[in-house]
Amino acid sequence: MLTNIPGYPRIGSQRELKKACENYWTGKISLERLELTARQLRKQHWSLLQDAGINLIPSNDFSYYDQVLDMCLTMGVIPARFKALQQTLANPACLELYFAMARGYQKNNFDITAMEMTKWFDTNYHYLVPEFEAEQQYTLHSRKCVEEFKEALSLGIVTKPVLIGPLTFILSGKIKDSSIGYNTLLERLLPVYIQLLTELHNAGAEWVQLDEPCLVTDLEPATRELYRRAYASIKRALPTLNILLTTYFGGLEDNTDLALQLPVQALHIDLVRAPEQLETVLSNFPEAMQLSLGVVDGRNIWKNDYVSSVALITQAINSIGSERILLATSCSLLHTPYNLDNETALPQEIKQWMAFAEQKVAEVIALKDIIAGDKNLLEENQQVMNSRKTAASIHIPAVKARMQNIADTDMQRHSTFPVRQSLQQSALKLPLFPTTTIGSFPQTDEIRQLRANLKKGNISLETYDTDIRTAITQAIHWQEHLGLDVLVHGEFERNDMVEYFGEQLQGFVFTQHGWVQSYGTRCVKPPVIFGDVQRPKPMTVGWSSYAQSLTNKPVKGMLTGPITILQWSFVRNDQPRMQTAFQLALAIRDEVKDLEDAGITVIQVDEPALREGLPLRKARRPAYLQQSVAAFRLAVSTVADATQIHTHMCYAEFNDIIEHIAAMDADVITIETSRSQMELLEAFAHFHYPNETGPGVYDIHSPRVPAVAEMEALLHKAAKLLPPRNIWVNPDCGLKTRKWPETEMALRNMVTAAKNMRAQA
Ligand code: GLN
Ligand code: ZN
Repeated sequence: MLTNIPGYPRIGSQRELKKACENYWTGKISLERLELTARQLRKQHWSLLQDAGINLIPSNDFSYYDQVLDMCLTMGVIPARFKALQQTLANPACLELYFAMARGYQKNNFDITAMEMTKWFDTNYHYLVPEFEAEQQYTLHSRKCVEEFKEALSLGIVTKPVLIGPLTFILSGKIKDSSIGYNTLLERLLPVYIQLLTELHNAGAEWVQLDEPCLVTDLEPATRELYRRAYASIKRALPTLNILLTTYFGGLEDNTDLALQLPVQALHIDLVRAPEQLETVLSNFPEAMQLSLGVVDGRNIWKNDYVSSVALITQAINSIGSERILLATSCSLLHTPYNLDNETALPQEIKQWMAFAEQKVAEVIALKDIIAGDKNLLEENQQVMNSRKTAASIHIPAVKARMQNIADTDMQRHSTFPVRQSLQQSALKLPLFPTTTIGSFPQTDEIRQLRANLKKGNISLETYDTDIRTAITQAIHWQEHLGLDVLVHGEFERNDMVEYFGEQLQGFVFTQHGWVQSYGTRCVKPPVIFGDVQRPKPMTVGWSSYAQSLTNKPVKGMLTGPITILQWSFVRNDQPRMQTAFQLALAIRDEVKDLEDAGITVIQVDEPALREGLPLRKARRPAYLQQSVAAFRLAVSTVADATQIHTHMCYAEFNDIIEHIAAMDADVITIETSRSQMELLEAFAHFHYPNETGPGVYDIHSPRVPAVAEMEALLHKAAKLLPPRNIWVNPDCGLKTRKWPETEMALRNMVTAAKNMRAQA
């Protein structure tokens, strides 16, 4: 049996690549230094995999910014707006163009916008969206892939180059001209793919991995046809090259026959996400094909359960024999942190249940050894797994009992929205077009320093408390002065909207170096939910009630919702994800109740990540949405009718989920709409969304201050789409990345815009 790794992290265990890129961008280091760092990292990763004993070692999984962008450069998929810049550059394939496409270019009289970013399937990784234009001429524009293969070869390592397969590449992009369709695109791109594969083969590559995760999504019959055509052409051109067709993030399901009919040497399937697909795949498995079993989870940080993996592997061996089987991680390890050994602060009990990329590579090898007869490895692993099943730190009887007792009425506000609306109106006495903000205010260096100093023990808790209170006091007076209607405390005490709550909840741990790439050089360090979640004591009530004590205007309590906490964490895999979401909902519910008891009359529960969790397959979306909505409702439905519940979502489209958004039944939802010029609000209008809505009237992603007239125009647009009495006035999202002066000017204009609307009403 061969072993196979579909991809390895590339940012560096100490985030070396992040630092090198950022230093290169600011001119602190030369291109040569950056390239040296990149070469060192590649060598490290290849050597590590070789030393571990992996047979199919990936290359071209390295990327300076993004593997989809690499593919664009490779194929010559370069948007026309970069042409003029390209002509001024000496080397057409150079990194300058590459980074310009990734980050935009505002230098030397150029002002070119970056390519758009979007999430890579259901991960938290963002890729740059290929832009296909009719005028583009596709040629082999960059030979990065061939060069990296040769670089490894010169180190004595024969690698398996990794490329995004032609259909997934096309389907992940945007066609900018209606004159071209998938058909023509494929026709134009295929020759370039074939040329590239030929060059790789000539350079000595025996295997090439073509990633086709689109095979685990719903496909049109026409797209299936294109799959057949593409892979038949590749086979015809390169009959002796071994193609490893790689799928992940789900099961093949109705694409199983298609995948099995494609003329490739091997197929990789994700048996962590979809273990049930093994049976169907095996039942029809072609004579000559090899099968790569993705049994070690590439998306999470838990140790592999060898007993379950061995069961799957044995099932495969019994069906097709062991010679044609490869053992692998479920997908690229890009989505896991580097090395658990670097963690020195994790409780040993919890650490023993975990595995990062380096440990996962070892697990693939261990599974091979177990199949070859190593009993010790299996026993050791079984002991660890058993300890997890019974650990008192994981299993809290009180939480489980409470989960058992959740009643439908717990997810139901006392009265319907119209009743609540009038009660809230008499309680809050807000004007028409009430103004508010989304929660956070500028995080100045001073504020960050303050939190860092507390963490390091440089200042006492009293000093910290006093200084945060001062910041809150200033923020409250400042908002009153600006004339905002519903105030916020500013979130100065929070480093991150998930981490802040995770740190105060039972069931979470935090890593020191558990970074995973989010986009480009940006990495996130998700909290780890390892056990039953419980709230030992109030988390935000102190700050919120202090803020409320300073003013007669309502101050919003500010919480993060259960689905967003779930989505932005590494989640335990020993119970269904939704069960964890409901435990989180119960913890947030306790906080909501305490906030209300402390006199907070408006409470916002943010769910910006609700849409992110949508399953890849359409058929599974309604169930996910229903459960997510139920979790939200469980979190908030404890309050009295007169208490106003807000929620907030950004980066979301609503067309296909609006009925579920309505089912959340938040009294007010604030959303990001300014960049789309209120287009996103149309879904609310078509649906006759009954509750109140705050369509964002200014983009918080840039320091630009929008004029009064601009925001007023957007509000007029909104007032055509929704009943004016249901409209709130607010920015798109929190203001933590902004500076105070621009925030003040923008909010002042915003308040004026709202007043003008009132005057005209
Ligand atoms: N309340 C959060 C803030 O204002 C919301 C952030 C978000 O939606 N991502 O920062
Ligand atoms: Zn937001």
